[in-house]
Order: sequence, then C-alpha cells, then structure tokens
Amino acid sequence: MSGATPAEMQAMVLDEPGRPLRPATLPVPEPTGEQILIRVHACAVCRTDLHILDGELEPGHTPLVLGHQIVGTALETGERVGVPWLGWTDGTCRYCRRDRENLCLHARFTGLDIDGGYAQYAVADRRYAFALPEGFPDDQAAPLLCAGLIGHRALRLAGDAERLGLYGFGASAHIVCQVARHEGRRVFAFTRGDDTASQAFALELGAEWAGDSAGPAPEELDAAIIFAPAGPLVPAALRALARGGTVVCAGIHMSDIPSFPYEDLWEERSIRSVANLTRADGDEFLALAPRVPVRTHVTRLPLAQANEALARLRTGDVQGAFVLDPPTDA
Ligand SMILES: [Zn+2]
Ligand SMILES: [Zn+2]
Repeated sequence: MSGATPAEMQAMVLDEPGRPLRPATLPVPEPTGEQILIRVHACAVCRTDLHILDGELEPGHTPLVLGHQIVGTALETGERVGVPWLGWTDGTCRYCRRDRENLCLHARFTGLDIDGGYAQYAVADRRYAFALPEGFPDDQAAPLLCAGLIGHRALRLAGDAERLGLYGFGASAHIVCQVARHEGRRVFAFTRGDDTASQAFALELGAEWAGDSAGPAPEELDAAIIFAPAGPLVPAALRALARGGTVVCAGIHMSDIPSFPYEDLWEERSIRSVANLTRADGDEFLALAPRVPVRTHVTRLPLAQANEALARLRTGDVQGAFVLDPPTDA
C-alpha cells in the first residue's frame, strides 16, 4: 500500500464557532511519532460536532477539521481502522494510572485537539485506533465509534437496570436500544412529543413504549440515559426513577438543570455523567456489536454537504446517524 499519497486533500474546516464549515484544500497531514496516516472512507457526524460548531466546546485550534468517528485504511499496513474521540492520553496522570484514561488530565480529542475525519485523510495515534469488526461496511461501522462507544459506556453505568428509559432517540440511543434488548432489558423511549418518526423508529428497534418526554413515564424506570442536551430532562427523568435508580447524562454539553426537591433524589437515586471513553470500552463494545448484532441506520451525504448534515442533526431531521463520504480522488 505504498501507492503515491497526494500532497493535498479536500476537507471541511471550522474557522470559528458560529460560522458554517468551509470547504478547503489542505496539505495531507504528516504522521509524527506513533501516528499513522489514514485514508478516510467514512466519518459519522456526532452531536458533539454541533457543540463545537456552536462554541459550546472550545476548539483546540482553528482552522479545525471536525469528526471523530472515522473509518479508513491505514496506509502503512493496508488495514481498516476506526478512530474514536479519545485521541491521546499522557498515560501517567492519576486517572490514567487507575484505568480511567477517559478522565486524563491532558487528554487530546479527535476532531477537537487533533484534526479529524471531515477530510480525505487524517492522522491518528495507532495506539488509540481500533480494528473494526467485519460484517460492518465502512458507513455502518462509523457510528459505532462514538454513538456506539459512548452509548455502551452509558449503558454499563446504568448498572443492571431492567426498565431502561432513553431520553432523546438519536444515533446513540438507536444503538443502545438494540444492545439493551439483546441483554433482556425493557426499553422505554422518550422524545419530543411531536416527534412521532423517532417514536416509531424506537418501537421498530425493540422499545416497548415510546412517547413524550414531557409526559409521565408509563411505569417506574430502574435507570434513564439522557442523550438530548436539555437540562430540564434531568429532573424529569429523576422523577420517573424507582428507588435506587440512576440517571446517566451521556452528552458532553447540556443546558442548565432546573432545581428540584430533594425528595426526588431521596431513596438512593443518583445522577451522573459519562465522559469520553477508554480503550477498554472500545474493545469491549466492538466485540459485542457483532454478537447483538447491532444494525446502524445511516444516511450518507458527500463530505461537501457537512453543513447540511449538521443543520439536519440540529433539527432532528434524521433517524440514526449521518455519515459523510469524502471524495475518493484527491
Ligand atoms: Zn492521563
Ligand atoms: Zn461523539
């Protein structure tokens, strides 16, 4: 696979938060240290990309190439690899030393600190890239890398909950729903009241109930995972919990959480967040996904239409995940 790599590539770049991504011709990045050069075949779009675009998360540099669910070929070996959000850790801080590299004090993230996959080529540290299960075409594998991985970590943190509520039924929830059903859990999907398309999608994927997150839950929940970035869902989900239940907030950003009476938290209910991923999460989930088997629903768009994908994600105009296809010729 030593074929000539072009000097330049097409990419969509963020110049500054609040402005649409700009099509750009950039030099193909040069790998340094432990990095490998990857030809990108597909990159899934994540809600975190929207938070960076909106300035709710500060870009590590600009212009920045977004995208942290990359499937491509490592040019050095010809192997297919997946690149997730966790791009690098120091390996030495108190969190890394305790198997909590997701909390590393000096972590660097793909598509935030390191240029990501909204491009024809990307570099990634080989130690943080994953081999991908066969049986998942490139586009369907891409959403496993964040929607799947973060969803998996959130589900683990929900413990052995039998009655699981999913608040917001986007890319991550559509994968978690399938895994939860595989594990014999009962799934309840909460969406905006008028979002009947997402409700139908949830029922199709095995949820036994789907309805309005503003209304009451049909029965008590043992755990709730909140994917939508809306703080008012936290006390709403808390009120739906049975004794000892947990609310897991799976997003990287959320609007403020309104106050609520202590009574709602009493009886050992808890609220927690999920931050990032560890490589062990990735190994575990990528082994599990083909056994379920997870089927990701993807809508493919050319890389040049990244702004359209982000705009439609913002309004919820997608079932499953958007995946961007870079042009195949430089
Ligand atoms: Zn560390
Ligand atoms: Zn993500």
